[in-house]
Amino acid sequence: MFRGTFAVVNLQAITSNVRTIKGLLGSVTKLLVAVKADGYGHGAVEAASAALAGGADALGVASLEEGLQLRKAGIEVPVLVFGRVSASGLPIAAEHNISVTLTSDWRDEAIATCTKPLHVHLKLDTGMSRLGYTDVLEAVEIAKWVLSRQDMNLAGVYSHLACADAPDDTHLKGQARKFEEALRILEEHHVRPRLAHLANSAGTLRSPKLHYDMVRVGVSAYGYAPDAEFPLSVHLQPALSLYARIQRLTVIGVGETVGYGATFTANRPTRVATIPIGYADGYFRVFSNQSEVWVNGFYAPVIGNVCMDQLMIDVTDVPHVKPLDWVTVYGQAVPQMWNQVDFSSKPDAERNEFVLKTFSETATGSPVVSLDRLAKQAGTISYELMCAVSTRIPKIYFRG
Ligand SMILES: *Cc1c(COP(=O)(O)O)cnc(C)c1O
Repeated sequence: MFRGTFAVVNLQAITSNVRTIKGLLGSVTKLLVAVKADGYGHGAVEAASAALAGGADALGVASLEEGLQLRKAGIEVPVLVFGRVSASGLPIAAEHNISVTLTSDWRDEAIATCTKPLHVHLKLDTGMSRLGYTDVLEAVEIAKWVLSRQDMNLAGVYSHLACADAPDDTHLKGQARKFEEALRILEEHHVRPRLAHLANSAGTLRSPKLHYDMVRVGVSAYGYAPDAEFPLSVHLQPALSLYARIQRLTVIGVGETVGYGATFTANRPTRVATIPIGYADGYFRVFSNQSEVWVNGFYAPVIGNVCMDQLMIDVTDVPHVKPLDWVTVYGQAVPQMWNQVDFSSKPDAERNEFVLKTFSETATGSPVVSLDRLAKQAGTISYELMCAVSTRIPKIYFRG
């Protein structure tokens, strides 16, 4: 906090988004919320708790380690690991009641017997070419092996969509058809996993036909559409905001340059502000001379190359800028009060209380710099920005 950079994570927004998504589902369809990659950068345990408060039935993670982190925090709902867990991890998964994905055979590794039942979800590759069985008969064979084991239980069968956010639904339809076909063949062979699931956020928002017994949403729970152009039929509230305080102000003359490599040259007398956020914080170097931040009600362009810990912005056209003013890097606009009260040096509890009290004024508004806007300026997607937020950025959790 002494640096003058922090994130506010609006947990109320996550709860409300999850409740909204839950409202789109039929009464028997379960809702799994992905909290992999530290809850898409929001904090895995906090995001999980907020999602559960909104009606999530299960959580998804990328690795067994991420699952164990949730269990250690006392979270008891079903957790599914999307990635492959090596055979040596299976008894640990079983011990902690963490479900695993069967995406390639464990039989060529030494598998110890699990002392508790291991819940297995069979993964099918229907067109993503990432994980799972492409050949359904091979999937049947491996499913039968699972069913033959006393210590394993076939809890689910699933696949993952590659293009559910694209306007053209040709690829999506092909995957849905293959999934249907695979379910039919499994059924013919008397393999009946309890839960069939296919849809990510895009699939879930796109069509109830893709919902099956469970949906798996990530990005939409955090308040963003899967793609900036994706037509949203529901209101989602972005949960993540990032703020940094102006460290220094200076004016450079025509012809003077900014930053490493001197990639920005002033063509007018230019007022330059330095703020303490850089690529090591998850604000990518590719934003150099591309993106904008929000200062005192105005957009200010990032000029010069983004450094590891800092970046420079052009505030020539922004009136009344002072050193120590707060900048919205992305998310909800900085509350008015922040520039008038120096809360940075206060003890943690007092400072957080001040931030939370004043943040509530802006919490439900539209972000002034949305991650979609920012992502577009640098040719990436909101997902990558969210999960890039570095651990050195302190997070303040807004619970409404
Ligand atoms: C990350 C992930 C999801 C969630 O995807 P979103 O696009 O964020 O909704 C769902 N399923 C699997 C297997 C995933 O890896």
